[in-house]
Amino acid sequence: LKIINDILDFSKLDTKKLLIEKIPYDISKTFKHLQELFQLNAQEKSLEILLDIDKNLPAYTLGDKIRVEQVVSNLLSNAIKFSPNNSNVSLKLIHLKSENKMKCEVSDFGIGISQSKLQDIFNPFTQEDSSTTRKFGGTGLGLSISKELCELMDGEIGVNSTLGEGSTFYFTLPLYQVDCQLDELQNNTSGKIANIRGNILVVEDNKTNQLLVTMLLDEYHLSYTIANDGLEALEILTNEKFDLVLMDENMPNMNGIEATKIIRKTDLIKDIPIIAVTANALSGDKERFIKAGMDAYIAKPIDSQELHNMLCKYLSNKKRT
Ligand code: MN
Repeated sequence: LKIINDILDFSKLDTKKLLIEKIPYDISKTFKHLQELFQLNAQEKSLEILLDIDKNLPAYTLGDKIRVEQVVSNLLSNAIKFSPNNSNVSLKLIHLKSENKMKCEVSDFGIGISQSKLQDIFNPFTQEDSSTTRKFGGTGLGLSISKELCELMDGEIGVNSTLGEGSTFYFTLPLYQVDCQLDELQNNTSGKIANIRGNILVVEDNKTNQLLVTMLLDEYHLSYTIANDGLEALEILTNEKFDLVLMDENMPNMNGIEATKIIRKTDLIKDIPIIAVTANALSGDKERFIKAGMDAYIAKPIDSQELHNMLCKYLSNKKRT
């Protein structure tokens, strides 16, 4: 799964499709959580992950917590992978006050990286050498994804290393002032996903896709009903009030395009936001969906972040109607 995720991320980065959010998050909570998570992995090698957070850092900043976690996870799993048994990995957060940035350092006492290899360690598919790949595994994409993510977040990534002594990977990220009340954030334990409300109609014939979508909707605490095709969708829509429709394209009995055209001509339901969920991500498809009366579309396989962004956008508008 990790390898597939790496490759999916990499292909998105390659086409610059990856969206970075700026949402308040609790810095020390985020890093403590990562330390606890990776300490479990590290146990196998009797490693200790030492966390050191600069007291001068603000409690909150704005950013894409998931992507920050992704970068730190990558650096920590590398550090654990390359550390000798019974040693330490250090995870350190430093406040760069004059630059208004935070710097994260992940250090190990592992095999180190030779100077000649350091310069292209952030390039895709580069590992120390092919025997490293055999011994330690991985896609060789982690560091290049981390570099791209840091740059997308207006940060920088780098490394210092000495052969036989160990390596320190670091990245910096700008700090942003968080204006809202801190206790408001603290009470909102599930973070950004607590804010969306709505009743969703999932129109999808494929059972696996039904399961995937509804798992995500459960995570966002949204209520939903499943329709197996366009005909079922029309029937359900006339009997119950929904705030949004997620519409598959290819379905038996009545496909998503036909169903959308009928919804748009039917009083009481004609204004409902409809998001096409489709495996057809070819250029020109978007225009086809919009022309049929859909508001937006997202590609399969569904990216949870993208779905969430889409739901935020269309569910927060619902009061206007
Ligand atoms: Mn289908």
